Amino acid sequence: YFGNDTWVYVDGEFLKADCAQIDLFSQSVHYGYSAIEGIRAYNTHNGTRLFRAEQHYDRLRQSCGHVGIPFPWETDRLVDMTYQLLEKNNLRSAYVRPLVITGYNMYLTPAESSSIIITAWEWGPFLGTGLIKLTLSPYRRPSPSSLPPESKISSQYVASIVATTEATSRGFDEAILRDSNGYIAQASSNNIFIEKDGVLYTPPIGHIFPGITRKTVLELADVLNIDVVEKPLLPEELKAADSAFLTGTATGIVGVASVDDTVYSEAWADTLGATIQRAYKNLTLEKENYQVII
Ligand code: PMP
Repeated sequence: YFGNDTWVYVDGEFLKADCAQIDLFSQSVHYGYSAIEGIRAYNTHNGTRLFRAEQHYDRLRQSCGHVGIPFPWETDRLVDMTYQLLEKNNLRSAYVRPLVITGYNMYLTPAESSSIIITAWEWGPFLGTGLIKLTLSPYRRPSPSSLPPESKISSQYVASIVATTEATSRGFDEAILRDSNGYIAQASSNNIFIEKDGVLYTPPIGHIFPGITRKTVLELADVLNIDVVEKPLLPEELKAADSAFLTGTATGIVGVASVDDTVYSEAWADTLGATIQRAYKNLTLEKENYQVII
C-alpha cells in the first residue's frame, strides 16, 4: 500500500512512511495491545468526505478506554488531520486506518504512554462487489467476559484471521461466528442482517462488535420504513432466511449467496438488502438527501 512517497500521520506530524518508526519494546508489538479504526473517505459531489469520522474516532477513544490505553487526542483535531493526510497523499477516496500503539513496557500493566498513527490508501470493497458464500465457523467470538466485544483491540483480529483462514481453506468467502451462547454473532469483520418475511433481523449489541455501518443500516431502515428486529438468532434462522447481507466500513454492504449448502433463492435485486445497499451508497456518496439522519 505504501511507496516512499506515502505520507503518514504520527503524533501531530506528517512523515514519509519509510521514516516512521515504532518501538520494538512496545506492548503493542508483543501482546497485540493496540487499538485500530477503519474509516472510509468517499469521493462525493461535494468533494472528499470522511463518512462518520467523528463516530469512528470516538469509538477509538472508547476502545482504548476499555483496556486502559491513554487517548489524549481531541476528535475534531484528528478529523482535521485525516483530511490533511488525504490531501497530502492526493487521495480522493480512501480507506483510513488510525492505530493507537503503546510505548515501551514489557510488563502486563496498563500503558503509560501511547502514539497515534494514521495511514490511508486506496482500497476497493473488502469482499468484492458480488454475492458471497458464507460458512458457519467452528470458531466463536470471544466471550464478553474475556474481552470487551465493543473494543477494536488488535488482538481480537487474530481470532478473525484464524476463522477466515479456516473458512477460505474450505472454499468459502467469509466465516460466520457464533457467540459464546451459540447464537449467530457476526462475520469475522462484518455485522450480519437477515431478511425473513419482509422483516430484517440482526443480532443485538452484547456479543457483537457494534458496527457503525450496522447503526447506519438501522437508521436507513427507519427512513425507508423497513422493520428491523434486534434479537439473538439461531444458526437455523440464518439458514431459513429469505436473504442475508453483511455490513462494514471496508466492505460496505454485500449480499450473501449461500450459507454452507443452503442457497438463498430470492434474487438479490429483490431483497431488502439490495434496497439498503442502494440507500447506503447514496448516503456515503452524498447523492440523495439523507441528511436528515446524519
Ligand atoms: N465487526 C468487526 C469485528 C469489525 O472489525 C468491523 C469493522 N470495523 C465490523 C464488525 C463492522 O464495523 P463498522 O461498520 O463500524 O466498520
